[in-house]
Amino acid sequence: MECEYDLALEAKYASEIASLLATPSHEAVQKYYGKLARAGICPCLMVKQTKDMGKGIFADKDFQEDELVLRDRMLVGAQHFSNKVDSFVCSFCCCYIGSIELQIGRRLFLHGESMRDRAKECKIEKSTHCSQLELVVESTNLDENGDGVADLDTTEDPCSDRHSKTRTRLPEEVVESLLNGTLKLPYSERFPLPTVINCIGGCSEEYYCSTSCAEAAWETFHSLLCTGEGSLCKNKDELRNFKQHADETNDIFHVAAQVISMIILKIKRAKQNLHEDFNWSKVLDFWEPFAMGYKRQWWDCVALPDDIDPIEETLFRKEIKDLAWTSLQFLKGAIFEEEYTPLLSLKIYGNIIGMFELNNLDLIVASPVEDYFIYIDDLPHSEKDEAEKITRSFLEALGDDYATCCQGSAFFPLQSCINHSCEPNCKAFKREQDRDGQAILIAIRPIMKGEQIFISYIEEDMPWKERQALLSDYGFACKCCRCLQEQSNSS
Ligand SMILES: [Zn+2]
Ligand SMILES: [Zn+2]
Ligand SMILES: [Zn+2]
Repeated sequence: MECEYDLALEAKYASEIASLLATPSHEAVQKYYGKLARAGICPCLMVKQTKDMGKGIFADKDFQEDELVLRDRMLVGAQHFSNKVDSFVCSFCCCYIGSIELQIGRRLFLHGESMRDRAKECKIEKSTHCSQLELVVESTNLDENGDGVADLDTTEDPCSDRHSKTRTRLPEEVVESLLNGTLKLPYSERFPLPTVINCIGGCSEEYYCSTSCAEAAWETFHSLLCTGEGSLCKNKDELRNFKQHADETNDIFHVAAQVISMIILKIKRAKQNLHEDFNWSKVLDFWEPFAMGYKRQWWDCVALPDDIDPIEETLFRKEIKDLAWTSLQFLKGAIFEEEYTPLLSLKIYGNIIGMFELNNLDLIVASPVEDYFIYIDDLPHSEKDEAEKITRSFLEALGDDYATCCQGSAFFPLQSCINHSCEPNCKAFKREQDRDGQAILIAIRPIMKGEQIFISYIEEDMPWKERQALLSDYGFACKCCRCLQEQSNSS
């Protein structure tokens, strides 16, 4: 049933959709990255057209080994849903917020919740849906659902979570005292975190490290995607459906929605400020950062998973397309307006997600909880013994993954144009001071002015065949010097 994808609508807006998907001219590319350079984002780099790899980033000065090459702010991005239990971070810049106590208490509390949920599911033998992650800091009533938890401590329990073998459980009053700030852990003042700032729109889903992050998120995309009282979204039920669907299927839909919301908000603001009539060329201006990214339809470019028989490929790709279609229907239900129809077409939605699929989107921020326990472990003997009387039980309760970092997906306008090589001259590396979601690239050997900057999209210590297989997920066959040499050796 092809018509179910709104083909008639896509035909009606074919020229607008084509204008969004057009490959930008050489001049347009130069202009855009020239703007970024002038804004001080990449003072020592330049973007140039390469012979065989599209555009590439080149050094505009000599870099020494270990020197910072690029600090790239994400344009859109979101923490993975599954990671929200482990790390409480600013929804805009992804730095950790609250306090060491809140980070630990929240994680223990939410892990306890998910175990309770699973226990409930097992007992009534049907999958009750896990409700939206909600953090209740002030008014946590932990006793309410406390019954029946003790029996989860046994390792035989099929419902206990994967780390329960290495975890002990703490009394709920103790977890609560971490959450409400009445318990202070030794030396935690050495790891101060910014105070938690609520969402301007009043939802209880997003929290920030500062009012500037709260405002920036609100203006950039969140005011349309907020489920709170002050939201500009017209149908919050549909928005909730959209979010739930993304949480359950693929959280890249959240990031795609941010892209669309960002452009709609820019148009709305331009109309308000300039009293201008709606004009499609405005949309193209605002779309510019995303026009630069290499794109294909998500369902065409997503790699076939190993466990899917190649005979089933057509069906698999149809299912992916249907998934995007379902997600888009919820999003349209929430934020659709007639004049933005092309932006909310399946073709554009599929291409935005495809652009993410073909780019390296990893967002990682190291955890201060890990640093805290390392600090305690490194204390001189007597202080350490004293501190561990308190901290040990928390470390044991957190289990092996106490060091889990913040993980998510984000789109970085410059990093996304850096080409791959199996012999890269740069690597993504967070230094001690890099405590938010920015992408940081460091030179791993001296780089001469004029050389192209390369990173490796994959683990590069693998044989040629395996590297090629992994790189095909990014839509190309690597022809770096190392690959050419290893290919000729293997044949
Ligand atoms: Zn922030
Ligand atoms: Zn909100
Ligand atoms: Zn290679």
